[in-house]
Amino acid sequence: TLSLSLAYTSPRRWLNLQEYQSKKLMQDSGVTVQRFFVADNPTEARDAAKRLNAKEIVLKAQILAGGRGKGVFDSGLKGGVHLTTDPAVVGELASKMLGYNLTTKQTPKDGVKVKTVMVAEALDISRETYFAILMDRACNGPVMVGSPQGGMDIEEVAARTPELIFKEAIDIFEGVRDDQALRMAANLGFKGPLERQAADQIKKLYDLFLKVDATQVEVNPLGETPQGQVVCFDAKINFDDNAEFRQKAVFAMDDTAESDPIETEAAKYDLKYIGLDGNIACFVNGAGLAMATCDIIDLHGGKPANFLDLGGGVKENQVYAAFKLLTADPKVEAILVNIFGGIVNCAIIANGITKACRELELKVPLVVRLEGTNVHEAKRILSESGLPITAASDLDDAARKAVAAIAKK
Ligand code: ADP
Ligand code: MG
Repeated sequence: TLSLSLAYTSPRRWLNLQEYQSKKLMQDSGVTVQRFFVADNPTEARDAAKRLNAKEIVLKAQILAGGRGKGVFDSGLKGGVHLTTDPAVVGELASKMLGYNLTTKQTPKDGVKVKTVMVAEALDISRETYFAILMDRACNGPVMVGSPQGGMDIEEVAARTPELIFKEAIDIFEGVRDDQALRMAANLGFKGPLERQAADQIKKLYDLFLKVDATQVEVNPLGETPQGQVVCFDAKINFDDNAEFRQKAVFAMDDTAESDPIETEAAKYDLKYIGLDGNIACFVNGAGLAMATCDIIDLHGGKPANFLDLGGGVKENQVYAAFKLLTADPKVEAILVNIFGGIVNCAIIANGITKACRELELKVPLVVRLEGTNVHEAKRILSESGLPITAASDLDDAARKAVAAIAKK
């Protein structure tokens, strides 16, 4: 993703799909992409290459991060995008991609395991441009962003020659006007009949953007061929998670294999989980309280192992799920619960805690600080439970006790 100053900085997840899935959506909207097949083993990749019956073939590793062209596999293979004319070579290359980790400038340092490759008809590219549509808070709506200098070094273009990045705000009610699409096409450097063609692609990409409730549609490169065709050679689409209810087919394609399994499990219960590297698990409500809790643990010489944010309308089974997730991490040596009951009813938390303690046979010390709505009832539930729960009077006290509980062991 080209993170221009206008890129979204919301903490939301925004569903991300693989390139081949995004290209399928593009095809359905009449956007020009090359012919392709997908494969999950080398033989299938070779056969797909034969079936394409193309002059030249491009083999592309499918991971959710960009920068693949310049990436490296732990098999030793360099480059997540390869061109060849020989289907047998496609098979050989695929065997050095599938099952191996690909590291790019956008992945974690150990890379991401490749499970699928895309085998596509290669086309000569005479020029690579950059084009994206994204939701932009500053414009109160979608904005088009483009550069005549697209391709693999777009981040540098944005940093060094910002005058080569063009923006055009779209009126959400009016849509992309012809003059806007043509102006963008001209700014991207398309000439003569290619200008019309590019403008047409731009309008179709905007239709797709609306149709699938995207927060971003990014095409890098949007290229032209020597034969005079404008083609979307790469595709990255993000989707608005709030639209899941009406984008069932899109969200059904969600591949969570590249996400942290604990985070994915947490999301099922509407919980937000962040893994850290210490040994005190933190169970809190609200991101602000999570930060404060981490800081105060730190102040008392401890280190948080993770934090799990419970959010607003809490149910007992969420508390149970939360404890299960928190204790699944073997690094955890103590748990600190720090809940401020505003919307949250502390008694529900207390019941969830006692149930989780009994059923999960909790082995690590548990320090609980509850404050706010119905807190007296909550404290009664905890003290009458007979469970070894350490009550804390405030956040400072809680952090001190959690750190001390580990030191004692
Ligand atoms: P990434 O952005 O992850 O590096 P791309 O899909 O943009 O991956 O591919 C990297 C580069 O490979 C492109 O900039 C382009 O030069 C080349 N390339 C990609 N697809 C094709 C294709 N179908 N035909 C020819 N070259 C391609
Ligand atoms: Mg690209």
